Order: sequence, then structure tokens, then C-alpha cells
Amino acid sequence: MITAVRDAWVVTQDPQRKIVRGDVIIEGEKIVSVGKEYKGSADKEIDASGDIVIPGLINTHTHVAMAVMKGAADDISFPAFLDRVFKIDSERTDKDLEIGTKIGCAEMVRSGTTTFVDLYYSEDIIAKATAEAGIRGVLCWCVLDEEYTTQKGNPLKNCKHFYNKFKNERKIMPGAGLQGVYVCGEEMCRGAKEFSDEKDIPLTFHLSETRKEVNDHRKKTGKRPAEWLNDIGVLGKNAIAAHSAWLTMNEVRLMADAGMSVSSCPVSNMKLATGGVAPIPEFQRYGVNVTVGTDGSTTNNSLDLMAELKTLGLLQKSSRWDPTVAKAQELLDFATLNAAKAIGMQGSLGSIEAGKYADIVILNGRSPNLRPMVPENIVSNIIYSASSANVKTVICQGDIVLENGRMNTIDEEDVLSVSEEMWRSLCQR
Ligand SMILES: [Zn+2]
Repeated sequence: MITAVRDAWVVTQDPQRKIVRGDVIIEGEKIVSVGKEYKGSADKEIDASGDIVIPGLINTHTHVAMAVMKGAADDISFPAFLDRVFKIDSERTDKDLEIGTKIGCAEMVRSGTTTFVDLYYSEDIIAKATAEAGIRGVLCWCVLDEEYTTQKGNPLKNCKHFYNKFKNERKIMPGAGLQGVYVCGEEMCRGAKEFSDEKDIPLTFHLSETRKEVNDHRKKTGKRPAEWLNDIGVLGKNAIAAHSAWLTMNEVRLMADAGMSVSSCPVSNMKLATGGVAPIPEFQRYGVNVTVGTDGSTTNNSLDLMAELKTLGLLQKSSRWDPTVAKAQELLDFATLNAAKAIGMQGSLGSIEAGKYADIVILNGRSPNLRPMVPENIVSNIIYSASSANVKTVICQGDIVLENGRMNTIDEEDVLSVSEEMWRSLCQR
């Protein structure tokens, strides 16, 4: 099966960050040619004349199934927020997890995301719904100490069981997760890290999201969270730390030495007023791999990574009084090449190059908000001017998931028609 995307401006994200005008040819799941005019015939022709083609974006921190809980915990203090969300979380059913996941996946597809890293329990339900939606899920089963969880059985055993069951699925990558140092003791942290090392899979966790988390951990252990995790051997190349907003430079250096990644979630941090701003320029200077996440729908409340990228740039510039930090090209790298590296898929995702998976987003080049469009301003336009409304067509691993604004995979009407009922049963108690 050959798919030809014709005559687009292709933002390749290759090592030279080339932008070329021409065709992208897909054979099966992979890209076989970029930029050259393809004379052969294709099974599927996509006219993208004058449109922008970018690599599928990678959201490195979310809790997708929470998409059905939008607006259920807004404008309240952080402790009240946690109480409310933990209570709702403990009463969820397989059906509302499935509906939440499908709503979240559809929202992500429509805003150009083809891969997401998820941290939650019941990832088996989420995996099935994600596979139906047709995008890639790096699904990290959330591990925490048994005394804090409503999961049945031992969370680490559940995580391993999930991995064994889903490790060979086509677009599902099972991973390991830790809720955070506030509910994960040393034994649980080490257990999750050992499993992540053994299988060479991502290990994601919340880290230093709030000042209180840092202070409480210092009182308990005498160490700050990243120092403590480093000392017990949990930081490493497979680690993806979400938030990472309350850190010392010593912690940044430890994280860089470990070769790990962070997922900055600026909207979530600002909405919950947690105060800290992730030290992006220092992460870059010392060599921490920077990526971006939306966080879940109760804290953001949007899964739109394009909006997140702009916000991340603005927050960094504004808080530093420095417009030269978090440049447009760097921001696009965070959500493509860097994120692919964070999940260990730099060889197959993150850029539009022959041999990589065909994860491609087509933005409508006839949109006034993207014009004038010349090679010199395309990346700026993507970061500062584009919106999810520009997303026309989305391809994930060769499959056309969204085509001219219509979902080819799940029946959105079906899913959305029960969403209010689900919200009421979960959130209105
Ligand atoms: Zn989170």
C-alpha cells in the first residue's frame, strides 16, 4: 500500500532542520521518500498542495482517561483538587475509562498528536480504546505503595502483568509509572526502576510539582526528591519526570548526568498555581532532554499540545525577562525529536525521514493565521500562530486516522453522545 502526500511544505525535523517543498511517500507503515516528486502511482493520493506537513507531535505526560472529567475540579486549592480527583478516580468504571480515553485520543488527533505517554491505572482498558482510536500510546501503569491505592492487588505486579499482556501490540508500548515520591516508598521506586531496566521501557513519574512535595520529602528523608531518587538509583535514561518545576541546580545536574528526560507541563502548573517554573534553559545547558506534556484534563483542561508549546515558550520568556530563551525551533524539537528520544523511539519517530514510521500531520496552508508562509517563517507560524483548527489530516504509522477533518477510526458521535451521562455519574455526587 503506497500513500502519496503531494506537494506540501515538509518540515522534516531532520538533522539540518530542512524544510522542503514536495511529496512524502509512505509504503505501509513507513516513510520511503521525502521532498522529491514521485512519478509512480499510489494507492492513496492526498493533495497537500501548499499545506504544511509536520511530524506527529508527542505528548509526554497525560492521563488520557480523565478527558471525561473535564471541569470537575477547577478553581480550587491544590489539596482540595487532589482530594476531589482521588475520590473520583477511585470510583471509575471500565466504561467511563474507555469513553474518557476515546474522547482524549480524538482531541489529541485533532490537535496533531500521534503519540502520548500516559500515567494511570487500568491501562489495559486504556490500551484497547487507544488502539481503536488508532494512535500510539506509551502506557505506563501507575505504581504506588499499596496503602495509598485503590488498585486491586499489588500495583507493581499489575504493571508487570499489563506489560506482558500488551508488549506485542502494534501501537501500544507498555511502560512503568510511579505516582510520585509522596506515595511511593524506596522499595516501590526501586522495583519499578528494576522492571523498567529489565525490559528497557520508559519509567515516568511526577517530580517536584509543588513546593510542599519538596519540603515534605526533605522533612521525611533529609533530601530533595530528585536527590533522593538519584541516591536510590531510580534516575536513568528511561526516566521521564513530569513537571520538574521545583529543582535546585544540583538536582538539574544529577538529572542530566542520569541522561533522563523531563516533561514540562506549564498550563497545569499555572492553572493549579503551584508557583514553580521548570528551569528549561538550565535543563538544556546541562543536557537534560526536554519534552512537553499537557497533563490530564482536570488540570489543563485541554490535551492540545500545539497550545501547550506556545504557552511553554511564553512562560519561559516572560518569567526570564528574556525573549531569546525557548526559541520556536527548540519548542518544536521538544515535541518531536526530544520526545521520541524520551520514549526510546528516536530511530523510528520524531522526524519525517525515509525509514521512519509515517507519523504525519497536515496543516491547512490556506488558513489566514498561517499566512504569509515562507520557508523562513514556517516554524514560527507553527509555534506562535497555528491552532488545532488548522489540522486537516493525521497519519499514524501509515494509517490515516483523521482525513480532511473526519475521524476514520472511532465513531466520534457515538462516543460523545454518552459523555455527559458519564460525567454526571462520575463527577456529580
Ligand atoms: Zn500528571
